[in-house]
Amino acid sequence: MAGPNPQTCPVCGVKILVGVVGGDRVLFSAGPPGTRARLYARVCQYVQKAGCINPSGGNQPPQANDYYKPDAPKP
Ligand SMILES: [Zn+2]
Repeated sequence: MAGPNPQTCPVCGVKILVGVVGGDRVLFSAGPPGTRARLYARVCQYVQKAGCINPSGGNQPPQANDYYKPDAPKP
């Protein structure tokens, strides 16, 4: 059986591990891995270019903390 299949979005430059148990894992350049929904919430919804491998955010609903919170207090 095949292991996770890494794909890199040529538009966003983010690597996605496809075929991971529990859903695809998105490897961000900073911070912990997340879901396609998080990638979409943070990057792809703003990019909207042909060639993006995550044009819809996958089938997992984005969580509230998937979005950037510009008004969050700095640590
Ligand atoms: Zn993308």
